[in-house]
Amino acid sequence: MRIVCKCGHKGKIRDSKELSPDFVTIYGQCLDVHCGHTWVAHLTFSHTLSPSAQTFDRLLLDRLRGLPRAKQRELFDQLGSQAVA
Ligand SMILES: [Zn+2]
Repeated sequence: MRIVCKCGHKGKIRDSKELSPDFVTIYGQCLDVHCGHTWVAHLTFSHTLSPSAQTFDRLLLDRLRGLPRAKQRELFDQLGSQAVA
């Protein structure tokens, strides 16, 4: 991904933090040594133009696999207790 400094020179992404699958914080740095500007930008999901070809089940499984084991267990425990109730 190309980023540009407010001075007009190319910048680079020094770091990024994915706060959620739809929201990423980007730490930018100007490559012009005479500028030295560093900044924070956000990359966010906006809206769908065409829905994913993957099935809902597939998307859900991929999402669950990305969670820590403890969180997966917590979710399955909640599902189990709701099924009994
Ligand atoms: Zn700059």
